[in-house]
Amino acid sequence: MSDCCSPINNEPEETDVVASGDSSCSDGACSVPNVEAAPATTTTNACPACGQKGKAVDTQTVKALLSVSLRTIQEGTQYYFCKTADCDVVYFNEDGVQTYGQDDVRVTVYQKAAEADETPVCYCFSHTVGEVRAAAHSGTDTVLIDDITVGTQVGQCACDIRNPQGSCCLGNVRKVAKSAGETTAV
Ligand SMILES: [Zn+2]
Repeated sequence: MSDCCSPINNEPEETDVVASGDSSCSDGACSVPNVEAAPATTTTNACPACGQKGKAVDTQTVKALLSVSLRTIQEGTQYYFCKTADCDVVYFNEDGVQTYGQDDVRVTVYQKAAEADETPVCYCFSHTVGEVRAAAHSGTDTVLIDDITVGTQVGQCACDIRNPQGSCCLGNVRKVAKSAGETTAV
């Protein structure tokens, strides 16, 4: 292969740091436009208490789960769910000004008390963490999970208005069963 007519004329990226003669910003500030990520989106869904990224939930979910007056609900704002275990904030809105804690919610939030046996994990068919653990210990966890799956398939679930996270519990149930199973196996 002759190197004189090589189509690979564009040199690797390392060179364009030096080569791009943007002499106007020699202090490295010109490297910013290369970063495509918009910082604005990462800050708006960060929990104001713990700083972790929240999960967007329907306002309907927040309305259904709050035990306090819904007069404080702001229509047209996006609410987020904070799943951080040691953070008391359950819901917060997009500007982070409004927060609702565990005390403002009707049920114990699984993510905030995942270690306690009495904590609900399946909010539609009423299964607690302890129940799932017991099932895993007796090897019937797949039966329990299948039962939940059937329930969701026939439309008996209402995750968006019963589960604080606003979505299906199956992932959490599997997680509890798996970790309980691992505990027994050891
Ligand atoms: Zn938080």
